[in-house]
Amino acid sequence: MNVAQLLARAARVYPTRPALFSGTRLLSNYGQLSTRVARMARCLRDEAGLAPGDRVALYMANSPAYLELIYAIWWAGLVVVPINAKLHPKEALFILDDSESSLLFVAEDNADAELGNAPSVKRVLRAGGSDYAAMQAAEPLPLTDREPDDLAWLFYTSGTTGRPKGVMETHRMLLAMTACYFTDVDGVDAHDTMLYAAPISHGAGLYNIPFMVRAAKHVVPESGGFDPAELAALAKHYGHVTLFAAPTMVKRLVDHQAETGADSSGFKTIIYGGGPMYLEDIKRALDVMGQCFAQIYGQGESPMTITALSREHLSDSKHPRWEQRIASVGVAQSLVEVRIAAADGTPLPTGEPGEILVRGDPVMSGYWRNAEATARTVRDGWLWTGDVGALDADGFLTLMDRSKDVIISGGSNIYPREVEEVLLKHPAIAEVSVIGRRHDEWGEEVVAFIVRQPGATVEQSDLDNFCLDHIARFKRPRVYRLIDALPKNNYGKVLKTELREILKRDG
Ligand code: AMP
Repeated sequence: MNVAQLLARAARVYPTRPALFSGTRLLSNYGQLSTRVARMARCLRDEAGLAPGDRVALYMANSPAYLELIYAIWWAGLVVVPINAKLHPKEALFILDDSESSLLFVAEDNADAELGNAPSVKRVLRAGGSDYAAMQAAEPLPLTDREPDDLAWLFYTSGTTGRPKGVMETHRMLLAMTACYFTDVDGVDAHDTMLYAAPISHGAGLYNIPFMVRAAKHVVPESGGFDPAELAALAKHYGHVTLFAAPTMVKRLVDHQAETGADSSGFKTIIYGGGPMYLEDIKRALDVMGQCFAQIYGQGESPMTITALSREHLSDSKHPRWEQRIASVGVAQSLVEVRIAAADGTPLPTGEPGEILVRGDPVMSGYWRNAEATARTVRDGWLWTGDVGALDADGFLTLMDRSKDVIISGGSNIYPREVEEVLLKHPAIAEVSVIGRRHDEWGEEVVAFIVRQPGATVEQSDLDNFCLDHIARFKRPRVYRLIDALPKNNYGKVLKTELREILKRDG
């Protein structure tokens, strides 16, 4: 079954229900949205000459066109390749190349010529531009049939080697994720609104599906970004608003509500995940905004679907283990099994930390054209998440640490190795090691320890500009610490734990 079937169904049953909004402005009802999508699908297939299974990349910030394009691509039996709008064009080029995307949609104001250089890309189109509007002249295409295991969403997640890997997300996985949403996260009614506060290119975008199947409202903030004042105003306007946000965003929203004394009753559910939410932060959020929170723990490889901490658990403050529970990531979602295992795969007893393994219909079968990484990550049907955690006797999972030293800043993953490789290209740098340091607003910030080449001098601004030339702005270090030599073990491996100690000691 094609996920776009859910839009076709909503349009048949509820054609006049309002579907897509820009801010408070209605753009289309369900009947109109499905017709627009079917016309665009015709263009993708006939004019662009694409065949089912071909990849179409979206490299743009949130906009109503983003949602239309996702459904047009699915309707035509094609595969969405979402590219984080904050990535550097060179990083986007790698993804275009690896996925062999035939078509690329960029934002109207994105004038980067470099992107057309990917050999597979036949055309670059501007979403929202005149070419985009012209697609509405086409005849609607009938919905393309898809098998459950056909690819729907090719999501690039960075590897520890710094080269992103394409997670193959199928129609079956997305439908299973949707079923889990209703069972484990929240219910959705016709009067509900999904507000796109976080990037649609990530899990927040996939959470459109439960709202599509219930023919609820989809609202894209006009700013296209995360602006707490705008979100609060939209929640007040619509009421019954749901949004997904990384813990750092939740914190900004909570601060805004606390500072302005604004009424939070328009927020029905704020789902957080993607990075650690600290105990004090969730307690304050509940105090300021009330019982409107739910948490999910997932990863690209099992999108939004490993565990969930429901509103019910978050609000059960009389429970003797409430604090422990709200500091956890909740219980296994209903369509997955979660296991804690030792390095050799042996299941570990309750309370013992080990690697978190997951299996079930929402879990990927592998990485795109990367058998080696797949074999490392999916073993005997279990996905090895790379996260370390422990289950308690009631089934609540506590995430202890990430086994791979990933830095999560503002909800985005930053892989130290990638930053290290960039800095090592600088002529003044002999050695470098990058770690994360806790940051009140962003969750973590990037710190680089640098050993200079003998006799070399280097300014922080120079290193900053150098990074900006190679990687996304959000990945560059906020702090550069000069050090005479990196601490290393007998094998010459840098001891990051010692670097963390240095930061703790010296600030
Ligand atoms: P990504 O594939 O970019 O979504 O990143 C997934 C990783 O983010 C997971 O493997 C975890 O390390 C982390 N993560 C996701 N959700 C949570 C959560 N609720 N609490 C703490 N860390 C999380």
